Amino acid sequence: MAYETFTGGVFETNCYLVDAPAGHILFDAPDGVCDWLERRKIEPKLLILTHGHIDHVQDVARIRQTFGCPIGCHVETKPMISDPAFFRRFGFGFEIEPTEPDFLIEETPGREFLGLKLQVLEVPGHCPGSLCFFDRTNAVLIGGDVLFASGVGRWDLPGGDADLLFSGIKQKLFPLGDAVTVLPGHGPATQIGTERQTNPFLVP
Ligand SMILES: [Zn+2]
Ligand SMILES: [Zn+2]
Repeated sequence: MAYETFTGGVFETNCYLVDAPAGHILFDAPDGVCDWLERRKIEPKLLILTHGHIDHVQDVARIRQTFGCPIGCHVETKPMISDPAFFRRFGFGFEIEPTEPDFLIEETPGREFLGLKLQVLEVPGHCPGSLCFFDRTNAVLIGGDVLFASGVGRWDLPGGDADLLFSGIKQKLFPLGDAVTVLPGHGPATQIGTERQTNPFLVP
C-alpha cells in the first residue's frame, strides 16, 4: 500500500494519504493537512475518519470546502464533527467548524473505498465509534488512536472504557497477525508482533 504520512497540530496527530486505485484517500484531518495537500497539489477524493477527537478532525470542514470530497465516518463520530457544542459539553474549550458526513462506515469484513478493499474493525474504548482499517493484501492497519508503539490510546476521555479498549486490541487486532504494520494516530509506525510481545500495557 503506497501512502504518505502528515503530522500536524499541537497533539502531533498523524494522518495518512493512501494511494487507492481510483484516487487518494485521506485518513483523518489534523490541523495543517489541508495546507499540506494544497501546497503539494494533491486532491484527495475521499476523507475517512478513524474517530472524532478534535485533533483528528480539525481540518475536515476546510478539506470539504477546498476539495469537495465526500467524508465517511462511524455513526458515533457524526455528532463529534457536526455538533459544534459536542466537546464543550464535556468541558473542553475546543471548537471546530461543523460539517456532516456523506456516508457512514461500520465494522465489516470487506468494503471497497476507491477500489481499495479494506476490512473495517470497530475498536472502541479510546473513543466511541473508533475504527481501524485493515489492508490484508499489504498487511497494513490504519489504527487511529487504539494501539501505539509501546502504548495504547487513552481511556480516560469522555466515552472511554479500558476494558473495551484492551479486549478490542487483544481480540480484534492481535489475530490480524504479528507481521502487520500499524500506522497509528500518534508516534511512529510499529508492528502487531512487536506490541504483542513488548508493549508494557499489553504483555501478560
Ligand atoms: Zn483520539
Ligand atoms: Zn489523537
